[in-house]
Amino acid sequence: MSAGKIKDYYKALGVGRNADQKEIKNAYRKLARKHHPDANPNDKKAEDRFKDVSEAYDGLGNDKKRTEYDQPREYFAAGGPGAGGGWAGAGGAGGPGAGGWQDVYSGGGGGAGGFGSVFEDLFGGRGGQASPAAKGEDLSYTLTLGFREAFEGTTKRIKIDRRQTCSTCSGAGAKPGSQVTTCETCGGRGAVAQNQGFFSIKQACPTCGGEGTVVKERCRTCGGAGTLPEAKTITVNIPAGMKSGGKLKYRGQGQAGHRGAAAGDLFMIAQVRDHPIFKRAGNNVHIDLPLSFTEAALGATVRVPTVGGTVGLRIPPGTQNGQTFRVKGKGFPKSRGGTSGDLLAKVQIEVPKELKPDERELLARLAEKSKIDPRAQVMARAQEQ
Ligand SMILES: [Zn+2]
Ligand SMILES: [Zn+2]
Repeated sequence: MSAGKIKDYYKALGVGRNADQKEIKNAYRKLARKHHPDANPNDKKAEDRFKDVSEAYDGLGNDKKRTEYDQPREYFAAGGPGAGGGWAGAGGAGGPGAGGWQDVYSGGGGGAGGFGSVFEDLFGGRGGQASPAAKGEDLSYTLTLGFREAFEGTTKRIKIDRRQTCSTCSGAGAKPGSQVTTCETCGGRGAVAQNQGFFSIKQACPTCGGEGTVVKERCRTCGGAGTLPEAKTITVNIPAGMKSGGKLKYRGQGQAGHRGAAAGDLFMIAQVRDHPIFKRAGNNVHIDLPLSFTEAALGATVRVPTVGGTVGLRIPPGTQNGQTFRVKGKGFPKSRGGTSGDLLAKVQIEVPKELKPDERELLARLAEKSKIDPRAQVMARAQEQ
């Protein structure tokens, strides 16, 4: 492994430090085509250039690796110790005896120390050296539901932007049939130690981004990322009685896992809109029930709205303001072992703001004849010590 100069991936691709992924990709494509060994047979310079370009794209072509590359590079650029650690050496992957480009990359079994042993290392007993396969990130999606939708249950189709595992390379990032080699910089461990005074700091290997392996020929479908963006439409069945803040879990519908590992989960979080009339408390539903003064005094059978339809409710004579009537089973349906709720109707006696002449006359006669003094008790108790 050669010590010395740290490769400038940006320079290798001829892009600025602030170039976006599209520019980087375009630059890589152009240069890779130009210097491809197939187009430049027996041209050692072109081959080296091609390797540089590929390595640079490998380091900058995805945001995670690029961040990792940018960080240590800035550190080293400032003249820190350990600059000779050499994470530049990408050459000679085929080991001694491997011939030119074709031998190294075609997977045709090269010379001594060729791919056979590398592959055994990779898929055999390399046990736990590099970072383990990481499950994909979970996603959460807030699903706004109408009050009635939450009551009845509903089916929604939602669109999720996520990354899926590339089906061409199954997430490996390598062109099918091409080789994945152990990273030379870190020897497959995925981390490198940098001496800093008395300390030795371990950090993710900048060459392989902590993976311990290097893809020599990138998958054309995903550009080596192993994942592809997709806009996935998912059908969500909302059970009747869904609560605001309630979660539904869709296993494996989150982000693709790293290098073919299991995908994360998708969490659907319900947000139920308020209703102008109904208020939910647990599975019970509360409403204010306006009654006229005469209905309350004489009793009546009145129509009461519930979320699921109208019911008749008998109001006994002498009903008081604020009194609550319970209508069994007319709240939210039970979900997941709970109990179904009731409707709780709280009486609000309405005093008419305007009266027609005949109504006024009747009420005046009632007032004259009534022997009830509503303040009698208050007057009496006002004398208490
Ligand atoms: Zn792929
Ligand atoms: Zn490495």
